[in-house]
This record gives sequence, structure tokens and C-alpha cells, in this order.
Amino acid sequence: MDIVTVPSELQARCLAWRAEGLRLALVPTMGFFHAGHTSLMREGRKRADRLVVSLFVNPAQFGPEEDLDRYPRDPERDARTAEGCGVDILFMPAPEAMYAADHATWVEVPELAAPLCGRSRPTHFRGVATVVTKLFLLAQPHLALFGRKDWQQLTIIRRLARDLAIPVEVLGLPTVREEDGLAMSSRNAYLSPEERRQAPHIRKGLLFARKLIQEGARETSLLDAAVREYWAQHFPLGRVDYLSFVHPETLRAVEHVRGPVLAAAALQAQKARLIDNLLIDPGCTVQSDLAL
Ligand code: AMP
Repeated sequence: MDIVTVPSELQARCLAWRAEGLRLALVPTMGFFHAGHTSLMREGRKRADRLVVSLFVNPAQFGPEEDLDRYPRDPERDARTAEGCGVDILFMPAPEAMYAADHATWVEVPELAAPLCGRSRPTHFRGVATVVTKLFLLAQPHLALFGRKDWQQLTIIRRLARDLAIPVEVLGLPTVREEDGLAMSSRNAYLSPEERRQAPHIRKGLLFARKLIQEGARETSLLDAAVREYWAQHFPLGRVDYLSFVHPETLRAVEHVRGPVLAAAALQAQKARLIDNLLIDPGCTVQSDLAL
């Protein structure tokens, strides 16, 4: 595995691979790897001849009050993990290498960026969309892999790739979870022991919504109240930033469930903001993995 820090070097190496007829996969990350990241890497490894992983804590996607300075980092361990997953290039640019002092160009998908996380993080997805577009131009991948845990991000990236005719296949992979159901996240490292104990109830609240839908509930205002009540009881240390029931592709709010609906939520603990989502198909009968 080679570590590359210079953007133009990454681009030259990837263009040379493409000229050889090789198939390239890209996994963009902010590092502090866990099993969610490695599942993307292993899938990329299977589906392509060359695998590029970017590790860049992108300043443009952090708000002024957010955790850019204390975002967890362990580049040496990450490099060992990436090597173990068969990564060919680990791209670790410095912020100045990605953003010139007079950087002035942004990629925005406002319609999809405004709801859900966009309400409390108004500039976040502009930062994400811009850096991912730049990574696509640098690494020129045939395939790019993202996690469904960040459903809104995945939806925005699919849309920008389509709208800008970027020739990349965007693949979304299932959320990897701890044994108790908590979605893996680099930010879980911020949780206090008691918050960590309560945090799996984020998912359980969303599963509760699914159970109610499968039992016939259709009005999302009622589902919303029921899930908030569940969290108030089981995750009192989490403040609900949002709970939304939206169309899985347009991300528009759904009032009455008629087809597949995405239940998405963010809860704020003391130092960590946790997100999770669940795609619910009202046509499906209750499944055995529903156990609360
Ligand atoms: P991050 O380093 O948090 O920006 O995440 C990099 C990529 O890993 C994104 O595509 C995320 O959606 C994905 N990812 C993060 N956590 C998980 C998880 N628990 N399961 C699956 N993918 C994840």
C-alpha cells in the first residue's frame, strides 16, 4: 500500500491505472476506522482491480461550533487497517492541499441538503458534496462506496453524480452495528459509559416505529410522538435533534405512510451527535429480527 498526500500525484496514478484498463474503486472516509469503514473497503477490494481510500477530516463539512479540532484521529493504526484490507493507495492530503487559500467553488444540492441533518448543520452537505466531487475528479473511480448509515449523504452524492454526469457508480452498503445495535461511528468514542449504555435505544426507537407501522399505524405525527416517548424513557441522556419520516429518495416529509418510508433521527448526547435511520416497508410483515 502506498500513502499519497499530494492530490496531483493521486490523480496521475489513477489516470495511469485507468489507461491500463483497470477498474478503480474509491472509499472516502474521515478515518478512525471501525468495521463500518472496513466493510466498504472489503467490498471495494472485491469489486475493483485497484482500491483507493481517502482519509481526510474535511474542514469544510464542520460548522464553526463543531468538533473539527477534536475529531478522533489515529493515522498509524488506520494505515495498518487499510493495508490489511488490501488498499492500494491511502490518500491523506493536508487541508491546504485540498483547499487553496482562495478556494471559491462549491457543489450544492440544496433541496436534499436542507432537511434532516441540514437543519442543524446548514453548511455540512455543501462541504461533503464539494470534497466528494473533488475526490471523484482526483481518483476517477469507476465505483465509489458509501455507508447507508449516512443516508442523506449517500442520497446527495447519488444526485450530484447523476446531475453532473460524473461517470461513477455510487454503491450504498448496509450499516454495520455493534452487537447491541448501536451503529458504529468514530464519534461513539465521545460517549460516556452511561450514554453508551443508553445509545442502542436510538435504533430500538426506530424499530418501534417499524413495529407500529407493520401493525397498521400510518400517521407519522403519531409515530413521531410514540418514538419520542420511547426515547424519553430509554435514552434520557439524548436530546432529540430530529426525528423525521421521509421519502427515501426525495427526503421530503411523509405525513401518511403509503409506501417505503425512511425513519431518520439524530440525538445529541453530551459530546456526541448520533445519527441512525431505518428503511421501513409498510407492505412487509413483522420480521424475526424485530426483537426490541
Ligand atoms: P466517515 O469516516 O464517518 O466520514 O465515514 C466514511 C464512510 O463510512 C461513509 O460512507 C459512511 O457512511 C461510512 N460509514 C460510517 N459508519 C458506518 C457504519 N456503521 N456502517 C457502514 N458504513 C459506515
